[in-house]
Amino acid sequence: MEKVLVVGAGFMGSGIAQVSAQSGYQVYLMDIQPAITDRALRDIRWSVEKLEAKGLLREPSQKVLARISAEKDLSNASEVDWVIEAALEEEGLKRGIFQELDRISRPKTPLATNTSSIPITRLAENTKRPERVLGLHFFGPVPLMGLVEVVKGEKTSPEIFERGIAFVQSLGKTPVRVQRDIPGFVMNRIFSAAFREAVELVDQGIASAEDVDGGMRLGYGWNAGPFEIADNAGLDTFVRIGQSMRALGAGHLAPSSNLIERMVVEGRLGRKSGKGFYRYSAAGKRLPWENK
Ligand code: NAD
Repeated sequence: MEKVLVVGAGFMGSGIAQVSAQSGYQVYLMDIQPAITDRALRDIRWSVEKLEAKGLLREPSQKVLARISAEKDLSNASEVDWVIEAALEEEGLKRGIFQELDRISRPKTPLATNTSSIPITRLAENTKRPERVLGLHFFGPVPLMGLVEVVKGEKTSPEIFERGIAFVQSLGKTPVRVQRDIPGFVMNRIFSAAFREAVELVDQGIASAEDVDGGMRLGYGWNAGPFEIADNAGLDTFVRIGQSMRALGAGHLAPSSNLIERMVVEGRLGRKSGKGFYRYSAAGKRLPWENK
């Protein structure tokens, strides 16, 4: 059985761990905060059991769950076939993680990052195997979204790029090939262009977030509106992506704005804090913000 180490057990890491286990990989899920890996294991159990109840799981949920173990450090990097880093969007932090992964893991192991904005090439510089470093940019919620951008850093070898594509397909996801390491890759640049405009319209009081979301669903066939997507992703993550893109001189392409930064300061992080562009009931039901 091939083994995967997922670094970071937040919104994205827990989803990546879940789909990897569902696809037959042995998964080590690591976070610096044990409470977060505990929560991730609970969330994964809930999600896998829900899929089982709907008849969407190929095997008993217990078998899937038994393939995931929670880890407190990176020591298991030495025995895995894939590493996927999904820690906080901070360049210094990710650089340190890549240095450590390079030291611990076998020299042939590919090291992937789920970063939204940090150049793959810069993270690869912290390893002695830049040809084996690539971006695997999943979309959240990972168990539900079918897309993963596979991103080539300046030094990523064609062989590792193709292995990344095959790995993504083995998870039942469809890859989009990103042939050059540009800020925001492809999908986030396109989403952010729409999102920046949507935020501007709401901030000016021209339309409500609910109306924009409903409009994008009904008028353009989006499965979820831009504000629903942002609340699910986490507005704090959008701010971090914005900071990182500004540092690259690409702040004009970022999904953040003064309004988003103000909301984060007020604790409106999206679904994870129970309030963002919407508010959320204890059971996770989305409710309009105005009626609070
Ligand atoms: P999150 O805040 O939910 O989770 C990040 C986790 O990283 C936290 O649990 C934190 O404890 C952990 N962490 C911090 N330092 C660590 C370390 N040294 N070692 C291990 N774990 C550490 O964030 P998220 O939304 O899951 O985002 C994770 C990554 O995925 C970011 O790079 C983000 O840009 C990217 N991403 C996010 C989305 C999204 O929709 N949120 C989509 C695609 C990509």
